[in-house]
Amino acid sequence: MSDTRDPRVLIVGAGMSGMLMAIKLRESGKQNFQIVDKASEIGGTWRENTYPGIGCDVAAHYYTYQGVPNPEWSTRLPQGAEIQQYLLGVVEKHDLRRRIAFNKEVVQADHDGQRWTVRFKDGEVEVADFVVACCGLLHHPRYPDIPGLKDFDGAVFHSARWDHSVPLEGKRVSLIGTGSTGAQISSKLSERKLDLKVFQRTPQWVFPLPDRRYTQVEKSLLRVFPWIARVVHHVYRVAFENLFAAAVIKPCWQRRLMGWLCRWNLSTVKDPELRRKLTPDYQPLCKRLVMSMEFYPAIQRPNVQLITEGIDHIVARGVVTKDGVLHEVDVLALATGFDAHAYFRPLELRNAQGRTLSEVWEQGPYALRTVAVPGFPNFFFTLGPQSPIGNFSAISISETQIHYILRCIEMVRSGPCQTLSPTPAATEKFNAFVRAAMPDTIWVTGCTNWYMSKNGVPSAWPYSGARFRRELREPDLSEFDVAA
Ligand code: NAP
Repeated sequence: MSDTRDPRVLIVGAGMSGMLMAIKLRESGKQNFQIVDKASEIGGTWRENTYPGIGCDVAAHYYTYQGVPNPEWSTRLPQGAEIQQYLLGVVEKHDLRRRIAFNKEVVQADHDGQRWTVRFKDGEVEVADFVVACCGLLHHPRYPDIPGLKDFDGAVFHSARWDHSVPLEGKRVSLIGTGSTGAQISSKLSERKLDLKVFQRTPQWVFPLPDRRYTQVEKSLLRVFPWIARVVHHVYRVAFENLFAAAVIKPCWQRRLMGWLCRWNLSTVKDPELRRKLTPDYQPLCKRLVMSMEFYPAIQRPNVQLITEGIDHIVARGVVTKDGVLHEVDVLALATGFDAHAYFRPLELRNAQGRTLSEVWEQGPYALRTVAVPGFPNFFFTLGPQSPIGNFSAISISETQIHYILRCIEMVRSGPCQTLSPTPAATEKFNAFVRAAMPDTIWVTGCTNWYMSKNGVPSAWPYSGARFRRELREPDLSEFDVAA
């Protein structure tokens, strides 16, 4: 191994958590790191997703690094472009750009018992003591397997690959999908001069989360007194964790309240037939809630039509539903979600015994405390299996995970061991603890949702945010196989 006083850390991904990892490494005095990203700019999700109406339904001041407050947020719920601007500002403020190698896609990493040899798509190779995959969660677009999709004559693209060169004004636009993304796109497109058909397979519960603009006075106060931003961050964290996050864990007043608010929101749809079509047959929160005050008004606009008949196939001129109707269309947008269980793959890992991550995760991804897999020493990741997702700020979750990962790196740096990887026993104990809480969660109450793994266990966190922080406060060396 290289000098254990200063192990080499390779960070994969220059998105929100990769940059945080770099900042925290530097703050703890470790300079021997590099970030690599497959793209030519930072930002991850917020660089890739530019669809009309893109925003975050987590409060801006909570969707912010604790150490880098942002007094300039213009609205309570930030728009995608504004988040990307914030992240670009963080890169400059922390002088990270020179530490990032762009257009470097990692495809394979092999551990020889001491170090990782990392291979890039362009054929280059690097060696590192630690690899930390900060690749985000929802970044593998899921394309629907609708027969004939390839036969469509017009423009077709996924929400995460929005083609801004395609004109929409005056066109017949069809949107497949009514999750958080579909709701944001249809809300925005409904304001434009175009005909929009929204294809809904399953109705969603829509929570009326209000947005508002921040005043100049508020921004000035935050500029002058940064501690106010920290207090606001904390207040939003407490609010989100005690409402949205608490509601999914077990039956409680928060679950009832949120359900009531969703039903009230639905009742604002005037046409009873449309309201019936929009009414889910499962409990609120089972699927990740759509947060929007705009979706129901949008779907009632005269240029918008909700199609609930199932899609049968697609032909050159449009979408054919199961009732045989051809919906002629010029542009087809797919808001059909992501593979939430791919994590940092297609990056493949191989350990010194020749086992690959694909083999180890064949029955479904699992991890110790959401950040590491047995058999793969000195390899860590953020937003891994069982992470609190969906109802928390992903930035806040990454902060907790990165703190834990740094402590692991510190143990190697200052201790007698060169590598550490989770023991299978500790990993199984952690996952049994997570599974034990699942029966009370809302995710298993009878709906399809993207949390569900192929092993039948939702890949989400069934305890409180405070419990998550406690579980990742300090690594316990007895949970790791260590090699000197
Ligand atoms: P999603 O929630 O998985 O929704 C995908 C939609 O596409 C669903 O309505 C699904 O219907 C539909 N669909 C998929 N395949 C289909 C097919 N073959 N035919 C017809 N319909 C099909 O994906 P998403 O909307 O991109 O959101 C994913 C997650 O990203 C969200 O839950 C949220 O956590 C996050 N997100 C957050 C924000 C934010 O503001 N923070 C914004 C956007 C996204 P079924 O329900 O029937 O499967």
